Formats: sequence, C-alpha cells, structure tokens
Amino acid sequence: ASAAEEKDLVIIGGGVAGYVAAIKAGQEGMKVTCIEKRGTLGGTCLNVGCIPSKSLLNNSHLYHQILHDSKHRGIEVGDVKLNLAQLMKAKDTSVNGLTKGVEFLLKKNGVEYIKGAGTFQDEHTIKVQLNDGGETTVVGNNILIATGSEATPFPGLHIDEKRVVTSTGAIALTEVPKKMTVIGGGIIGLEMASVWSRLGSEVTVVEFLDQIGGPGMDLEIAKAAQKILKKQGIIFKTGTKVLSGNTSGELVTLDVDAAKGGKQETLDADVVLVAIGRRPYTGGLGLENIGLELDERGRVIIDSEYRTKIPHIRCVGDVTFGPMLAHKAEEEAVAVVEYIKKGYGHVNYGCIPSVMYTFPEVAWVGQSEQDLKKAGIKYRIGTFPFSANSRAKTNLDTDGMVKILADPETDRLLGIHIIGPNAGEMIAEGTLALEYGASSEDVARTCHAHPTLSEAFKEAAMATHGKAIHF
Ligand code: FAD
Ligand code: NAD
Repeated sequence: ASAAEEKDLVIIGGGVAGYVAAIKAGQEGMKVTCIEKRGTLGGTCLNVGCIPSKSLLNNSHLYHQILHDSKHRGIEVGDVKLNLAQLMKAKDTSVNGLTKGVEFLLKKNGVEYIKGAGTFQDEHTIKVQLNDGGETTVVGNNILIATGSEATPFPGLHIDEKRVVTSTGAIALTEVPKKMTVIGGGIIGLEMASVWSRLGSEVTVVEFLDQIGGPGMDLEIAKAAQKILKKQGIIFKTGTKVLSGNTSGELVTLDVDAAKGGKQETLDADVVLVAIGRRPYTGGLGLENIGLELDERGRVIIDSEYRTKIPHIRCVGDVTFGPMLAHKAEEEAVAVVEYIKKGYGHVNYGCIPSVMYTFPEVAWVGQSEQDLKKAGIKYRIGTFPFSANSRAKTNLDTDGMVKILADPETDRLLGIHIIGPNAGEMIAEGTLALEYGASSEDVARTCHAHPTLSEAFKEAAMATHGKAIHF
C-alpha cells in the first residue's frame, strides 16, 4: 500500500464483520483495504470459534451415536476406536478450506488484504506492523473498526491453553482428559462439554446462575436442555461459584461454593475450561491516539448508524454493542457499508436467531417468556413435543419441543423456542416469520411437508389456539 493513496474504506480486522464489509464494499465499487494480524482471514469464527467447534460437535456426535445409539437401530458395529488426531485434522481441513475461500473472495472483489496489526496514528491514518516484518501506512476516507472479542479470563487462574484453557485450547486438546471442569454453563461451556463428554471425559459444568444456557435462553427450554444433557453424562453444579483455582499439583483444583453461601467443595480435573463470556478486544488499536472512548464493558461506543464520535470512523461486530454472534456481525457489516455508500441500512435486532449446537440443538428467536414477563407483555403459549412428531419418531430422536409465544390479541409471533434435532435449521423458518410480522395463524395455515420435523413448528402454531392435530 502506498501511503499517498487514500482508500474509500480501511477495515481493521478480517473476522466475519471485517471480511464481509470488505466484500460488500468491493461489490459497491469502493477502494478497500482489510488489515488482519492473525495470518488468516475469518477471525474468531472461522479459525477458533463457530467452524472448528461445529466440526468437533458433528464428529463427536457421530462417534457417540455409533457407540451408544446404533444397536437398537439394527446397526451392529465391531471395534469402534477414536482417532483424536484425525478428528482434529478433519476440523483443520474444514477451517483451512473456509479461510482460504474468504481470501479468494477478497481478491475476487478487488480488496487489498494486508497481513499485519493496525494502529490508529491519526483519524485517517493507520500504521500497520506487518506480520512479515517492517511497517506500512494506510490512509482511509472511512475507517471501520472490526477487531472482535477475546475470552474473559478468570481472575487468579493463569490460562496456558493446555491445562487451563479457553475455547481456543478446548478445540485443540491432544488427549481426551479423564476429567474436565467447565467454568460457565453458557453456549461455549455446553458445546465444549458435549464434545469432550462424548469422547470419554467426565465433565462437570459449574454455573453461577440457577440456569444453564447463558443469557437469552428461555427458562423452560434451558431446564429441558439441562435434563437431556445430564442424561448424556454431563454433571451440573448450578447456583455454584468458583472461589479460586490452583494449578500447582498434578491436577487443576477449583474451590467452589454454593452461590447463595453454603457448602464448599474442591473439584479436581486434568483440564479446566474457562467459558464465562467474551469481552471486546481493542488491544494495540491506539484508540487513545484519536480520543475514542470505550463504555464500562470495553465496547466501542457507536450510534445507530455505527458511527463513533468521529463520524468517518465506524464500528461493527463483537467489539461493539449487541449479541456476540457471527451472523449479527455479518448483518451489521452489510448495513454499515450501505450507510457509508447510500446513507441507509438495516438490521432488525429483535430478530437475530441464536443456536446452541448440542444434541439436541437449542434454537430461538425473538423474546423468551422471562423477557415478556419482565416487559409486562401479555402472551399466549403454544407447544408441540417432538415425541408426537412422525419424523422424530421415525428417527428415534424424540427429545424436545417447539414453543411459540404469540400476542393474545393480535396473534403476532413474539418468540419461537425450539429444543430438538435440527433446531438450528428449523429456526430459519421462525426467523423469517418473525421478520415478516407473521401471526401464529399464518404459520398454522402454511402447508408443511410430511414427514418433517418442521411440522412440529406448524403444530405449535396451531396449539397457540389450542388446536394441534397430533397432540
Ligand atoms: P472476530 O471474529 O473476533 O474478528 C476480529 C479479527 O480482528 C480477529 O481475527 C483479530 O485477529 C483481528 N484484529 C484485532 N485487532 C486487530 C488489529 N489491531 N489489527 C489487525 N487485526 C486485528 N457465533 C455464531 O454465530 N455461531 C457459532 O456457532 C459460534 N460459535 C463460537 C464458538 C466459539 C468457541 C467462539 C469463541 C465464538 C463463537 N461464536 C459463534 C461467536 C463468533 O465467533 C463471533 O461473534 C464472531 O467471530 C465475531 O466476528 P468479528 O468479526 O466481530 O470478530
Ligand atoms: P455466555 O455469556 O453465553 O455464558 C457464560 C456463562 O458463564 C453464563 O451462564 C454465566 O452466568 C456464567 N458465569 C459467568 N461468570 C461465572 C463464574 N465466575 N462462575 C461460574 N459461572 C460463571 O458466554 P460464553 O459461553 O463464554 O460465550 C461467549 C460468546 O460467544 C457468547 O456471546 C456466545 O453467544 C458466543 N458463542 C456463540 C455460539 C453459538 O452461537 N453457537 C457458540 C459459542 C460462543
């Protein structure tokens, strides 16, 4: 990059937020530079997040199913063995294919990709410490901060990514730990607990709240999920706080206490996973050089058009407000380019789906019962269990249900909550319905193919009026 050339848009961070904005801006004919220091594109999601975790979830599920859930289906297998190195290699193949694919897409859309760490020198100039040594300077008419997030550390517990790990270490263990303790029963905690428990670990999840699943999951669904995961062998200690940890012995030990005070105990494990949330990442960005401030949780402060207080510097993704989800980052990335280019954009924050990729999956969109109660909004409930769905019965996977919350007067959908096989795919239909302001009757009157799991969604909508056909 020549320091003299001014780009239409300079993006710091090549994660989902950054690379999607780069592609979109390239499509809009803008001159774009994307700066990424990791060495590969795709950020947390592609390199150490969504993608590798889903690879491990998929293949550990297959392994577990072959071992424990095949004989009664009429499939008898001989000597089933785990090849952990190959399982990890399969994951790496998926990750590499996708990160290279993103690099190709940037090239195809004329985006300049610089491998290095960007720092604000002034309001238009970014100094880049190149990964290969040396430095360069990039000047942008517009600048987008898309630097993402990092794992929140647990005070007093040193993370070495081997014995005390974040999700990054947890997706790369070279041996199945005999015992694993997970601090935090949110989405990361439960997905990783599932992986290692299926592969043979004795996994204990310590969660501060009385509920697992992290913020946002409907309480009734969270209880159902906990029951099913417990049946699979995961041990839960909810309402329990970790007081301190010790790594000096052979095993890592944690002192835990009932959150409301009471019984104290010590848990030991070969590996401890810290999964208590993620925090915005702005390290080395040099925000102090341009006088940009963060809020109390470290987030870059923006307005509804993603502008910081310096209007040509905008910010999207995990490093600013909202749920830390890849598809949320992607929506914002498209919208922010539209704001820059055309002056208008659109993200419906009331309609962003969440999925936990355990087995069964948990997925939801819109408001939970506890959200509606808190807001004083009246609602009607329709539920339909998968045990009454023909496809789920055929597949011998009948755990779970669909739950629909609708406005009792207008019948408009307020929230959709699914626990069951393929919930993550099924929620797309619910999201579309919610985005279009559908009533539950609209869904109930839409023909669904038989036999499919999606019929449970239609029947839950029917049940909102007390008239499901099959239950
Ligand atoms: P990031 O992906 O964190 O990307 C930011 C990038 O900026 C990084 O690559 C970083 O190296 C780079 N960077 C930072 N500072 C600089 C700098 N100064 N100069 C140059 N480069 C810089 N979300 C989902 O929706 N679905 C899932 O299934 C899912 N699974 C997850 C599993 C795990 C284990 C984890 C940890 C997260 C998961 N997430 C999931 C969340 C998802 O990964 C994030 O929401 C998403 O990556 C956010 O994208 P981003 O671009 O804002 O940030
Ligand atoms: P989270 O906020 O979802 O869950 C953290 C959990 O840890 C909460 O239940 C919290 O009560 C608990 N906790 C906090 N402090 C604790 C303590 N001291 N002791 C015991 N428990 C404690 O965070 P996460 O699971 O770390 O995930 C981070 C982010 O990554 C989330 O925003 C999540 O949406 C995203 N993510 C998404 C997916 C997905 O979409 N499938 C997968 C992984 C991660």
